[in-house]
Amino acid sequence: MPERPNRGIVVSLKAIPHAPGRSRPIHRETSNFGMTKKRGKHQRGQAAGKVDTKSAATASQAAHEPPSAARWARAAAEIADAVPHDVQAPPARQAAEGIVTIQPGQVCDLSAIDPNADGGLDKEASRQALATERARIQTLQERLYAEHRRSLLVVFQAIDTGGKDGTIRAVLEGVNPQGCRVWSFKVPSAEEADHDVLWRYHARTPGRGMIGVFNRSHYEDVLVVRVKGLVPEETWRERYGLINDFERMLTLSGTTVLKFFLHISKDEQKERLEARIADPEKHWKFDPADLIERKSWDAYQAAFADALTHCSTPQAPWHVVPANRKWFRNLVIARTIADTLEAMDPQFPEAAEGISGMTVPD
Ligand code: AMP
Ligand code: MG
Repeated sequence: MPERPNRGIVVSLKAIPHAPGRSRPIHRETSNFGMTKKRGKHQRGQAAGKVDTKSAATASQAAHEPPSAARWARAAAEIADAVPHDVQAPPARQAAEGIVTIQPGQVCDLSAIDPNADGGLDKEASRQALATERARIQTLQERLYAEHRRSLLVVFQAIDTGGKDGTIRAVLEGVNPQGCRVWSFKVPSAEEADHDVLWRYHARTPGRGMIGVFNRSHYEDVLVVRVKGLVPEETWRERYGLINDFERMLTLSGTTVLKFFLHISKDEQKERLEARIADPEKHWKFDPADLIERKSWDAYQAAFADALTHCSTPQAPWHVVPANRKWFRNLVIARTIADTLEAMDPQFPEAAEGISGMTVPD
């Protein structure tokens, strides 16, 4: 096993076989701190150098030192160096026309946004345009999955009957299920409630190459929790900052965060609830608790507006989607997802050398 010094630390190199879906073979280096890091091929050249006996001596001496603040500081620098700088997610692209994006620092006034807006689009033409946007998403998703470097997290929030499930069904139809996971967040389980507020969400963020969808999300902890008074105000207020830090951390780790608020009117909610009562095939969707929640309509609107105001950041602004008209909602969301994936510009990995021209034996 070749050994070489790396900033005064003895490092052993172990090649990991080329894994499917990976863009390049990865070498894992184990330092004498017992920490591992991955390096792409552009850094491998450095790692292949000859042993520098002077540094090796320093390293060997370091290996016998008791743990000290200085040693941990060196380890921290090593780890920081190992974080791939080139996976930072690009900032979310501008949303499709018809969506209102809350700019960082802007106060969100939901009453000023018309839930009936349809951008003057034609219903039938929009249905056809949706098929085109879906095809774009499908093509780009294959690249994202093959590239295996970045990920996309799509967050949906809305009041009851706001259309989260219908949007997910319409927009993600035809996407390869292997590269996409949808998570619905309900009242926290006992185990979830025993952990920190972001634990259950963080555990479900998309890995490299994946599209993750949150049907409800970490925002519930500043929405329903606030409206129902489940924690004191100072606790949910503190969460805006925690959420911004969480999303920034995800962005720095290569996850683009795209957040949609589906904006419906109170009259539209009444119609949708009535439709669920009238149609036996929709009874399963009807939750009598929704009638109680409806009484808190204004409190929910205030909680949504505050969350959108405080958590619209440059890397992850909120997009308000006029959502009374389902066909319009589906089209502009699909278009924004496709545009965002296009801006991420995922690339198929480099083929291993010598593939073209190979022959397959009989
Ligand atoms: P549904 O999405 O209609 O199946 O309902 C899920 C329910 O779980 C809704 O009433 C949400 O308000 C509730 N819920 C989701 N997250 C939380 C949370 N963190 N705390 C309390 N209730 C929640
Ligand atoms: Mg419900």
